[in-house]
Amino acid sequence: MFIEPRVGTGRDSARRGWIEVVCGSMFSGKTEELIRRLNRAKIARQRVEIFKPALDTRYHAEDVVSHNQNSIRSTPVPVAQEMLLLAAGCDVVGVDEAQFFDESLVDVCVQLANRGTRVIVAGLDMDYMGQPFGPMPALMAVAEFVTKVHAICVCCGELASYSFRVTAAESKILLGETDAYEARCRYCFQEGMREKAAETTSQAELK
Ligand SMILES: [Zn+2]
Repeated sequence: MFIEPRVGTGRDSARRGWIEVVCGSMFSGKTEELIRRLNRAKIARQRVEIFKPALDTRYHAEDVVSHNQNSIRSTPVPVAQEMLLLAAGCDVVGVDEAQFFDESLVDVCVQLANRGTRVIVAGLDMDYMGQPFGPMPALMAVAEFVTKVHAICVCCGELASYSFRVTAAESKILLGETDAYEARCRYCFQEGMREKAAETTSQAELK
């Protein structure tokens, strides 16, 4: 389990910020881990603000909602830059569904951390094709702490790092459609992708 580094003991350390990334596949508990960290900061009477991309409107526009209904209030923002103003005076800033922001999120998180804010970013590290997702790889590079959480493969029970899309839809973002995905391990993800490719070929041959 992630334990926060000591805060407020060294010279000027009370004003030092840093970046934490919590990443993994769907159903890996990323948002639950983000909420756990934020709630602990809140209990310590730190000023906490949570943001998510405005395009993610499933369940409730104002809440970061994890799949187990353990929710925490959040502010939807259309662009990452808005966080710089909205987070003024915050000790801790949380960002959920970070993969849906554009690359400018990286610079925003760096600026927040540089001015003394603890930034905790949660997001999918890979898309349904198994490719690095949006600003996540760059965020993992600039972060002090990276935690990769895992789901359980629905096919074989091994640790899962991939979000396998069960449907044939090709858009990168399928909002709120958790039924359209399965958490899979590397082996079962590849098996699934091969089956999909074979289906596409046979359908093309029928036409
Ligand atoms: Zn598997």
